[in-house]
Amino acid sequence: MTTHATHAAQSVTLPASLDEAVAALAAMPAAVPVAGGTDLMAAVNDGLLRPAALVGLGRISEIRGWQYQDGHALLGAGLTHARMGRPDFAALIPALAAAARAAGPPQIRNAGTLGGNIVTAAATGDALPVLAALEATLIIAGPHGTRRETPVGHLLAGVDMLRPGELIGFVRVPLLHAPQTFLKATGRTGPGRATASVAVVMEPARRTVRCAVGAVAPMPLRPLEAERWVAGLIDWDGDRSLAPEACAAFGEYVAAACIPDPEPAPEGGAPAPALPPAALHLRRTVAVLARRALGRALS
Ligand SMILES: Cc1cc2nc3c(=O)[nH]c(=O)nc-3n(C[C@H](O)[C@H](O)[C@H](O)COP(=O)(O)OP(=O)(O)OC[C@H]3O[C@@H](n4cnc5c(N)ncnc54)[C@H](O)[C@@H]3O)c2cc1C
Repeated sequence: MTTHATHAAQSVTLPASLDEAVAALAAMPAAVPVAGGTDLMAAVNDGLLRPAALVGLGRISEIRGWQYQDGHALLGAGLTHARMGRPDFAALIPALAAAARAAGPPQIRNAGTLGGNIVTAAATGDALPVLAALEATLIIAGPHGTRRETPVGHLLAGVDMLRPGELIGFVRVPLLHAPQTFLKATGRTGPGRATASVAVVMEPARRTVRCAVGAVAPMPLRPLEAERWVAGLIDWDGDRSLAPEACAAFGEYVAAACIPDPEPAPEGGAPAPALPPAALHLRRTVAVLARRALGRALS
């Protein structure tokens, strides 16, 4: 483990293992972990954060790759978007690779990590709807070599927060060996934050379709009824194709579930207000993304 003095923070410690990093955080309770620094340094530069010390995670090789365990991949939290976008990773978890390729400009993808994307938990985090659709779990490293596991949705919903001194070590993702897609709409051409995104994951072994919609709410939304409805239409023992009208209806179902109509007025009261134009536009965007994502997953 090495330590350097800097101007931005009192010191930067560079541990070589996850347990060393946890120990460094225990020894310096005011220290903040930093991986690629793309979110953290933006907060420092904007004057929102002034960490007394930093624990850099960039030298921890055990979290920069992945390993296999019981039909799952254990993805290191230090995997960069650039690494996840490469073809060997795309062959394993295509939707996560597609999200990684869409996550900002090249310099961001080269530095930004999976763990940072999860902990920042921005509505526009591109990995998050994919992890929600995959029902991924987090393996969290704590003091004295302890490990605990929690669904990624619990962290994003704030039901189970990282405790002081804990780090995300790995993300456990099922290897489904079936089509999965991620599509993202941005407000402008080229790399940009999502205005809406949709992940669709097929799981033929359980005859399920899982879908998550990103960026339209503080955390990814799962349209569970639409998932069940479309799974019931698919001939799982046959060619698994669906008529374009069914894909379009799925898109509408997903979009209406995620961006619902305003509550109807109580009986005898004023008529229900119309969906504002911006929300209507967003709903149409989600419908198109969900229709296309399902169509690609089935083709
Ligand atoms: C110009 C720009 C464009 C961007 N575009 C996109 C985009 O299109 N899509 C997108 O999804 N994101 C985008 N981002 C956001 C950012 O790049 C990602 O969220 C990235 O994945 C963050 O990873 P990081 O390693 O840089 O995190 P860091 O900045 O190092 O850390 C972020 C937070 O996570 C904590 N942390 C990091 N790793 C761990 C860990 N293992 N355990 C516990 N805590 C940890 C840090 O303490 C910090 O609180 C963009 C950012 C910028 C600056």
